Amino acid sequence: MATVIDELTIPDGRIITDAQEVQKFSGDKYTEAIEAVNQPLAVVEAQSTADVQAAVRFANAHRIPVTARAAATSIVNGSAAEKDGLIIDLNQLNKILEINIPNQYAVVQAGVINSDLDNEARKQGYFFSPDPGSKPISSVGGNIATNAGGMSSLKYGTTKQSVIGLKVVLADGTVVETGGKTFKNNAPYDLTDLFVGSEGTLGIIVEATVKLLPVPFGNPVTGLATFANMKQLSVGVQNISGSGLYPSMMEALNKTSIEALDRLEHSDLGQGGAESLLIFQLDVAPAGALDALKKILKSSGALRVNVTDDPDYAKKIIKIRQDYYQAEAAYGRLIVEDVAVPLSKLPDLAEFVENLKFSSNVTAFLGGHAGDGNFHPNFAVSKELDQTPDDVNDAINQIFKYVQSIGGTISAEHGIGDLKEKWVLPQLGQNLVALQKKVKLTFDPNNVLNPDRKL
Ligand SMILES: Cc1cc2nc3c(=O)[nH]c(=O)nc-3n(C[C@H](O)[C@H](O)[C@H](O)COP(=O)(O)OP(=O)(O)OC[C@H]3O[C@@H](n4cnc5c(N)ncnc54)[C@H](O)[C@@H]3O)c2cc1C
Repeated sequence: MATVIDELTIPDGRIITDAQEVQKFSGDKYTEAIEAVNQPLAVVEAQSTADVQAAVRFANAHRIPVTARAAATSIVNGSAAEKDGLIIDLNQLNKILEINIPNQYAVVQAGVINSDLDNEARKQGYFFSPDPGSKPISSVGGNIATNAGGMSSLKYGTTKQSVIGLKVVLADGTVVETGGKTFKNNAPYDLTDLFVGSEGTLGIIVEATVKLLPVPFGNPVTGLATFANMKQLSVGVQNISGSGLYPSMMEALNKTSIEALDRLEHSDLGQGGAESLLIFQLDVAPAGALDALKKILKSSGALRVNVTDDPDYAKKIIKIRQDYYQAEAAYGRLIVEDVAVPLSKLPDLAEFVENLKFSSNVTAFLGGHAGDGNFHPNFAVSKELDQTPDDVNDAINQIFKYVQSIGGTISAEHGIGDLKEKWVLPQLGQNLVALQKKVKLTFDPNNVLNPDRKL
């Protein structure tokens, strides 16, 4: 049967309407908490900015919801199809257009994989700092659209700190270029920052100019420390934070996470009653840093402290953190949450989460970017269950409520998508939401860009 989508034409790319092929673009690849899967009307595999413009212009005219989709590693149902919507697949826009070392920036198309850019920059002694756990599989455009964070956000900030200019296709198909090639830019208003983190609701990013940083000098200092509990670990985090050593990573894991890692790696991280683990790194280490860290951690009550500037030993320590998700996923289907609280509230959040009770087919974990106050309460649900059990949904609701009550946020780095949308109003309040809705409608008067997500 002919549908309106048959009238869509694009200059360079491919339009997919075959039901079986289109179906592959229905859901995100990693959202485990997905509730409903929508079959898109069609998928535009964009090869050029002109393709994106033509597709968006058409969708806007026909009031068809449009979802930008890059690597689809969203875990908040952000790049899944909307009902009767059009997917614009940006994976073919994958060219690094310029690496400009004298001016320390790169210009990339939106679909370039983060680590591809990083690897190219490193060949010239520079690096791209955003480092989400999905670095090898997620796109620079997706990182920008979600303002992705990672372990080194502690020192280098979230993706927003790396973006100096954007080329964006607006809802009516117009192209705008924001920012420029300078690190400072006060020409009004700062729309670059507004697009960063907007999750495909204000425009579709087709190109980005991003900062590159020189690779740090010398060997990093890396270490791990165990503590009796999260409260004691937080003392260590506070003391390192205030030391002036500027760590580039401070990652914490709780008791169940340590048990999962010990099970996976046959290690003994939980030895001596350790119920929390801190993994840290200084990517630039001043003379005396190694001993200073040892001292700080001992005086903060650490049970065990290993600090090294040996690159091979450092790799082993970092691998522990990298294996964390795999260790948890061994317990079942993993539902990953993402919240942040003011630094001093970390122990309160840990205690709150650890006091929640679950049935035997659920294991709850807590870990994440302690230096940023950003924790991921994760839940492994037995694979025999085809639905998320009520105790997990209840726990997530309780955690969000609690986090908001202590001045935190229900999304630190993964975004809102459509899984967390109902928590936006209680966090922002009526007046701010009303203003944000006006911003959305200024950019997208017909509400076609990822409608009903984010706000
Ligand atoms: C194993 C794993 C580890 C992860 N670790 C982290 C982590 O440490 N930190 C973190 O922050 N996140 C993490 N994530 C979440 C996810 O990888 C990030 O949100 C990432 O930035 C999404 O990039 P993507 O290319 O996959 O975008 P997609 O998932 O395709 O899209 C994400 C959102 O951005 C929109 N979008 C994508 N591209 C564009 C564009 N060009 N223009 C406008 N809108 C666009 C989509 O519509 C959607 O709303 C992880 C995910 C996985 C699976």
